[in-house]
Amino acid sequence: MTKIVNHWIGGKPVASAAGASGTYGPVTDPATGAVTTKVAFATVDEVDAAVAAAKDAYLSWGQSSLAKRTEILFRFRALLDANRDAIAELITAEHGKVHSDALGEVARGLEIVDLACGISVQLKGELSTQVASRVDVSSIRQPLGVVAGITPFNFPAMVPMWMFPMAIACGNTFVLKPSEKDPSASLKIAELLAEAGLPDGVFNVVHGDKVAVDRLLEHPDVKAVSFVGSTPIARYIHTTAAANHKRVQALGGAKNHMLVLPDADLDAAADAAVSAAYGSAGERCMAISAVVAVGAIGDELVAKIRERAEKIKIGPGNDPTSEMGPLITKVHRDKVASYVTGAAAEGAEVILDGTGYTVEGFEEGHWIGISLLDKVPTTAKAYQDEIFGPVLCVLRVDTYDEGVALINSSPFGNGTAIFTRDGGAARRFQLEIEAGMVGVNVPIPVPVGYHSFGGWKDSLFGDHHIYGNDGTHFYTRGKVVTTRWPDPADAPSGVDLGFPRNH
Ligand code: NAD
Repeated sequence: MTKIVNHWIGGKPVASAAGASGTYGPVTDPATGAVTTKVAFATVDEVDAAVAAAKDAYLSWGQSSLAKRTEILFRFRALLDANRDAIAELITAEHGKVHSDALGEVARGLEIVDLACGISVQLKGELSTQVASRVDVSSIRQPLGVVAGITPFNFPAMVPMWMFPMAIACGNTFVLKPSEKDPSASLKIAELLAEAGLPDGVFNVVHGDKVAVDRLLEHPDVKAVSFVGSTPIARYIHTTAAANHKRVQALGGAKNHMLVLPDADLDAAADAAVSAAYGSAGERCMAISAVVAVGAIGDELVAKIRERAEKIKIGPGNDPTSEMGPLITKVHRDKVASYVTGAAAEGAEVILDGTGYTVEGFEEGHWIGISLLDKVPTTAKAYQDEIFGPVLCVLRVDTYDEGVALINSSPFGNGTAIFTRDGGAARRFQLEIEAGMVGVNVPIPVPVGYHSFGGWKDSLFGDHHIYGNDGTHFYTRGKVVTTRWPDPADAPSGVDLGFPRNH
């Protein structure tokens, strides 16, 4: 029997209205190619119902004490911890990534819940006493109201958790529109939040596509929008939400480069390149998709990468021996394959060709093998586009400066890494490179929760990175209160039309 995933509005599951356009959409198990689930697609009325529930809940949640909010978040953290495996299984069944990888994304999401549990420290205001005679000034931060999150398929648990723990800890109420390709994890999270005692309406989920997203972008009661997804949609979300006077942070796609200097530990660099390029089948915004080899080390580095990449075991995500699973859809698999097929004609050397790969017993799965392209020209589409699959491009340059210029000419600026033993070069790289996250002998790190995550250029539209201090700032607005309590001994105040001065 096909499983059904409904919306979550006002603290309970809500089925999609029968007869409405696009009422349900299919969810596929990428390892078998079979449709296993039907997910509700929200109409405008259903989005409005979720926003209304969130607005209603905000009346009391926005006024609730920090102690109450954090007590619920601590209980949610314990439930999340106890349900790691259950959530990871849902992710693997709909996304396809291997179980250990799915567990990893739950763990990284949990880090942001940890941060939200300590929100009282982050929301501490500032007070200046006696700025003028008997006058004090305090700065406080207050919640915005109803805020929305729109998230991608590749991290169905972690990316929503980059957003809602901080948002609700700050006193906002939340409407999540997860990816329609793997919606089950978000419903499980909604159930756990309810079990933790979160009041009805503080966290809502509407499933669906552009119809649901567009309604959130234009709804007058939605005060802020957090988005993570591809660059064209991020740009659209930023422009549309801003035109509707909303606060917006829209994280986009990536083409992450790893610069390998001639003095680097080449075994460590090859290990890092293979792990970061092919982990999660390359469907990570922090995947390494371009290695830039400096000087004469190119041939040796490519040989080491090849030797490791050839050993990767590809199979269903729920098989504990699999290291890499299938891609999200057949359409996406075919698009990824087209970059490899076209690479030679564009001047690249195809070292490993993963097209046409299949797994015995799972012939209808969305499989593709490992691809490694060497000496890729910067004009090749395989280099220019975000492929979002297990395809690694190697580019050759003669000098550090040439490598930095190449990386900085990319329109993307999410993350980048340098591998070297030269501290001076690494320091220069940190300062000169145009990207939001930098790894030194670390392949594109996802920053810990108490730092923030975000790229530059076409990888992020808006002023705020996500989570960390930026998260608290994004989900609150500032207020400055100037207070005077006159003393009976003070001289009478009197009228003064001059510009107020501090005495
Ligand atoms: P996507 O842009 O196709 O979809 C993201 C969300 O937008 C989904 O909820 C989807 O339903 C919605 N959406 C899709 N088309 C829309 C439209 N025309 N109008 C309104 N809403 C629309 O992205 P995806 O394929 O789900 O995810 C992969 C992309 O996300 C990659 O480009 C990856 O780099 C990026 N990503 C970026 C980060 C980051 O932190 N920068 C993190 C994870 C993923």
